[in-house]
This record gives sequence, C-alpha cells and structure tokens, in this order.
Amino acid sequence: MKSGSTDNKPARIVILGGGESGVGAAILAKDRGMDVFLSDSGTISPRYKDMLVAEGIAWEEGGHTPSLILNASEVIKSPGIPPTAPLVRDIVERGIPVISEIEFAGRFTDAKMVCITGSNGKTTTTLLTYHILREAGIDAGLAGNVGKSLALQVARDPHEVYVIELSSFQLENMYSFKANVAVMMNITPDHLDRYDYEMQNYINAKFRIINNMTSSDAFIYWEDDPVIKAQLERVATEARRLPFSEHREDSLTAAWTDAEDESVIFRTPSSEWSMPRADLALNGLHNLFNSMAAGLSASLLHVRKDDIRRALADFEGVEHRLEPAGTVAGVRYINDSKATNVNSCWYALESMPAPDPADGQPKVVLILGGKDKGNDYSEILPLVRRKVKAIVAMGLHNEKILDFFGSEVPVIRDTHSISDAVAACHELAVPGDVVLLSPCCASFDLFSSYEDRGRQFKQQVRDLPR
Ligand code: ADP
Repeated sequence: MKSGSTDNKPARIVILGGGESGVGAAILAKDRGMDVFLSDSGTISPRYKDMLVAEGIAWEEGGHTPSLILNASEVIKSPGIPPTAPLVRDIVERGIPVISEIEFAGRFTDAKMVCITGSNGKTTTTLLTYHILREAGIDAGLAGNVGKSLALQVARDPHEVYVIELSSFQLENMYSFKANVAVMMNITPDHLDRYDYEMQNYINAKFRIINNMTSSDAFIYWEDDPVIKAQLERVATEARRLPFSEHREDSLTAAWTDAEDESVIFRTPSSEWSMPRADLALNGLHNLFNSMAAGLSASLLHVRKDDIRRALADFEGVEHRLEPAGTVAGVRYINDSKATNVNSCWYALESMPAPDPADGQPKVVLILGGKDKGNDYSEILPLVRRKVKAIVAMGLHNEKILDFFGSEVPVIRDTHSISDAVAACHELAVPGDVVLLSPCCASFDLFSSYEDRGRQFKQQVRDLPR
C-alpha cells in the first residue's frame, strides 16, 4: 500500500465525491483499517449518507474543509471532479497522490480485470461481456461507469472476474492498475472541453488502459480506427494484440466477417470459431463491433464457444441504445437517447433501413437536438441525405440544426417539447417508416438526463392514438 505516513498511524484516505464510487472506496478503505474522510462540495444522496453513517465513516457535504483534506496520505477523486478544480490543484501541489477508485480497489484484489473503454459502445460492450460470462457460469462482477463501485464489491461481494467500463475521466488517475484484457472500441472527439480542446490529451487518457500490461495480457481494439492506429505506432505495449474489423485486414485480425458477410469469425491464440452474423442479438455495424469485442474477451477467459454463441444471440439489449420503443400505425419507434454525440448517431443511421427500392423514398424520421457540445453535423450528412425523410429538431434552441439541415432534408420541424416532437413524427411517418430518436446532443435543455429523455419518449409513443 502506497502511503505518505512515516509513523505507525494508519494512512489517511480522503475521498472527494460522495457518489457510488466514492462511498464504495470509503467502505473499502475503512474495512482495511485506514483513517477515512469523505468530502463532497454538493449534496450527498440519502442512500449514500445512510451507508456512510452505518459504517461510521466521517464525511462532510456542501463544501470542502481544506484542513481535513490537505493532511491526507492519499486522495481518491471522483471522476466527475476536473483536475483543474482549485482544491485538486492544492492537493497536487502538496505532493499528495490523487488516484481513482478503480486504482485503489485494484490494490486489494487478484481478480481478473476486463476493462472496456472507447468514445462509443462502452456500456453495450461491457454489459454484453458481463452477460456472456454470467451465462457461462463465471463468477463475474460488473463495475465502473455502468454505475457500480468496484471498491464496494472488492470489500463486500468479491468476484473472480470484473468487467469494468472505464471512461477517460476514470483512466486519468490510474497508475499501477493493470487490465488482463483491455478493450478499446474507438476514439472520436468527445469531452474535449475537459482536455483543453486537445484531442491528443483525450487520446492519451484513453490509452492509459494499456498501462502495465504484460505479454500474458490482451489488448482488443478496432483495427480500422485511424486514431487508435496512429497512437499504436507511438506507444509500446507488450500485450498481445487482438484487433477486430468488419473485414479481415491482416494476419493479426482476431474477429471479422467472411466475404459474404454471413459469418462472424473469432480467432484467439487458443481457439477459432464462428457464428452466423444473423444470429447476433444486436443489429447494426456498431453492434457487430461490440459483439466481436465481447466475444473475443470471453474467449480469452476460456468461455466455451457454444456458451459465447448462445449468449451473443440471446442478449436483450440495453435501454436507450437503439431500443425498440413500440410500433404504432405501422411505424417503428426507436429510442437511441444515449446517442449524445454525432458519431453514435452515425452508427444508428447506418443501421436504419435503406430507402424503399420501389420508389427510392427514405424511411426515417429523425429526432435531433438538445444541448449542443460543439457538434459538426457534416459526419452524418451523407446518411441523412440517403435515409432521412424528415428531421424533427427538438430543443430549446434549434437554430443550428435548422440552418445546417434546412436545405438538405425536405421537411424539418422546429419543436420544443417531447410531446410536440413525437406528435410531429406521428404526422410525418407513414406505415413502414421508422422514427429514430438519436439526438446527437446532451439532454439538459429539456430533460434531467438522457435516461429521462428516453423514458419520456417511450411514454409519448405509448400514449399515441392507436
Ligand atoms: P458509451 O457507454 O460509450 O456511451 P453505449 O454503449 O452507451 O456507449 O452506446 C451509446 C450510443 O453509441 C448508442 O446509442 C449507439 O448509437 C452508439 N454506439 C454503440 N456502440 C457503438 C460503437 N461500437 N461504435 C460507434 N457507436 C456506437
């Protein structure tokens, strides 16, 4: 255990942020006999407060008391707190190590770690991998960005394997942690506001996932991602590389589809197997990649081929990610509220039906809009031109969408609430069409979260006249 204490006093661990990861870390530290203090500048939710009280852990909320923090041997920082926060700067200036909850928890377990990162597809791939392992009877835990603390599980409900979703924010404060299997889905611009608008800083944070890996570990990544490719030329890793690609690129490719696009082939150093692409539970090119990454990860953990095939085929999907939201008057409604950036909308559109060959009419009514994070919509323009018959711009400020797409898509509607947006879609779509909520934007102008936006969308669809 790394610690700044020079006498026999227990290490003083200060935790910044009283959410799932912070409270989990506090409990683990307390269990291991450390002197623990948790500080949150906002309000700690009653559920977590109850846990802290029950465990006898000292805490504060509504502000930070420097004298109780700057005497720490080590600080565990919630990924939501930026490194530029004045308090964090003070801590670093004093030479106090700042680590993440995952780094901390990793010290107290020998479990195998399957860690998944990327700009898009993290949650889907994490849940899919976890599903395969559980179905195969492996004692696996789910942790990280998916909302479950690794530290708490290590303390109270230990598992043999953890499947961990890691955001770039979590990776920032990881140093000695080692993944046994690291997965990198893709890297496209996101959260650049946190990285001084420097893409390379964001790439470097993501690539921390391969730190400390040895030749007995494996790095799974998307072979055709230009950003990953370029970075791999710059960094060295001893980990075995298992890239996946839609089509086989070279002898290294570890998962690909055959020439007819009918089978998905998986190849690891110890096994080779395939399954019909049509059997995959999740559709669309992006989900082919997610299935490949999850299948390879499970294969590396020696899950039997038949178990992987079955689990990839019976996975039920993840809420708000291309989730079927019902069919009304012959029109399919799809909730992809989690598409909060342009790239994920690209994949959603890519998986939508092509125009009707009989009349060439596009079939998709697309709901876009919300809080724009500096979007460049040109990435989806070709797909919009081909597949979208109408855009419904749903947000408080729709000017950018109206300006960008106004001359491209025949019909564009300006709406300011979910009910108006769904009503507009209902009016525009004809039987055989698809209404897709894949908004490219954060939800905070009209909703409390993307989950809230997705649930309200589904409710409006349920309330449509049948
Ligand atoms: P994350 O956890 O990285 O945000 P999710 O699995 O929640 O990713 O998916 C978010 C959105 O990104 C989905 O709605 C989908 O449209 C899109 N998406 C999912 N997987 C991929 C992928 N492999 N590549 C690109 N986009 C994807």
